[in-house]
Amino acid sequence: MESKTIHLAVVSIPAFSHQASIVEFCKRLVHFHHHFHVTCIFPTIDTPPSATITFLQSLPPNIHYTFLPPIKKQDLPQQHPPAVQIQLAVSQSMPSFRLALKSLCTSNTLAALVADPFANDALEIAKEFNLLSYIYFPPSAMTLSLFLHLPTLHELVSCEYKDHKDAIHIPGCIPIQGRDLPEHMQDRSSIAYQLILERCKRFSLADGFLVNSFSKIEAGTVSALVEHGKKPVHLVGPVIQTGSSSKSNESGCLRWLESQRPKSVLYVSFGSGGTLSQEQVNELAFGLESSGQKFLWVLRAPSVSANAAYLGAANDDPLQFLPLGFLERTKEQGLVVPSWAPQTQILSHSSIGGFLTHCGWNSTLESIVLGVPMIAWPLFAEQRLNAVLLTEGLKVALRPKFNENDIVVRKEIAEVVKELILGEEGSRTRQRIEVLKNAAVDALKEDGSSTRALSQFSNEIENFLRQSLQ
Ligand code: UDP
Repeated sequence: MESKTIHLAVVSIPAFSHQASIVEFCKRLVHFHHHFHVTCIFPTIDTPPSATITFLQSLPPNIHYTFLPPIKKQDLPQQHPPAVQIQLAVSQSMPSFRLALKSLCTSNTLAALVADPFANDALEIAKEFNLLSYIYFPPSAMTLSLFLHLPTLHELVSCEYKDHKDAIHIPGCIPIQGRDLPEHMQDRSSIAYQLILERCKRFSLADGFLVNSFSKIEAGTVSALVEHGKKPVHLVGPVIQTGSSSKSNESGCLRWLESQRPKSVLYVSFGSGGTLSQEQVNELAFGLESSGQKFLWVLRAPSVSANAAYLGAANDDPLQFLPLGFLERTKEQGLVVPSWAPQTQILSHSSIGGFLTHCGWNSTLESIVLGVPMIAWPLFAEQRLNAVLLTEGLKVALRPKFNENDIVVRKEIAEVVKELILGEEGSRTRQRIEVLKNAAVDALKEDGSSTRALSQFSNEIENFLRQSLQ
């Protein structure tokens, strides 16, 4: 059986970080199991993200991809947040997804579909074609546990979750406050909440789950999930970006880092589309400056909505939004890079001593794998949940306080930056992340837990094919 080619179809959502994560998972799969051939199918809004196009230029020969006919951004309801627009675009793409799947079924013996959690409408279509179906979950097992638990939580809790006076218990996870639940669960009358609840109910259609995490950090959560759901949950991570997503700013950043002392620079970035308000940009600028620490800041033009840039960034030059004279005053202290930087290369550099991050799960894992302690500054999606895991669970990040207007003020920023780079708590945080870094390396070795999880996944598909031939 091992030598017979097995075809998989994969479907993602129009967001770079989800696309990169699922493709990296496929790369690991075909690296260890050469007989797998994968076709990645991407729903699209207007045009594919440019970072995705660059990233897809270096794929192994047994991974192919296709973009579905684009949904026009102008046809999506503009009053809804980007996360809702993305989900609506995915749902609208399902007829063309069905055609793409049909054509793959005609030309190959397709065995299984692997879907992003926000493209799980595709699971129903997989059933029509008698395929085995899995969810590849780019975020943490904790988030998966929450999603699987949400239909129950919805029945148990009648108020808004943020007003729930007791901590919320997600199976296999540390207790969390309602205000730290994902952004789309914060208003139960919203369309965002309705959509997520429907998606969570649809998870029951999956035959199993592949999660971008590893046993050292989330084995307990997975045991609780398997006990409860009786379906396989494979921890296949940490899957992090290996291919380049951009050539711009690459050499400038790395050259600048070369001239800095080891572990002295704070890297500041809010993911592939996170933005701050103008007031928060000012506070961050003054906070970094007064910390006296070196920094490399990936700056995007400010916006009132923290995730507005996910559906195409403003064309404005972000540097014009910095306080007057900031660049001149800090020219020896820091480097500000507009919009995009080669993150994994930066985090691997020996001059990096900390990462101020929005706690997107990819950034989180990249920081763990590369052993960089964090400052947790969550903005949206499930990032608050990740921040709780990082600060209270794993204790590898410090978390600054937001004031009553949801702003982190300059004094708070300066203190937390100094603590991370120079302080005792920072040093303990660095030691703890070193332990996780080593565990991540072990998980990814040939006989490591995540590589064995890939083999289990491969065995499940082979067993399914064997049974369907009988
Ligand atoms: N990224 C990058 N350069 C940037 C910003 C982001 O390479 O300037 C990459 C980063 O390395 C990570 C992904 O984009 O792989 C961001 O994913 P994450 O889950 O952290 O956040 P999201 O973009 O989903 O908010």
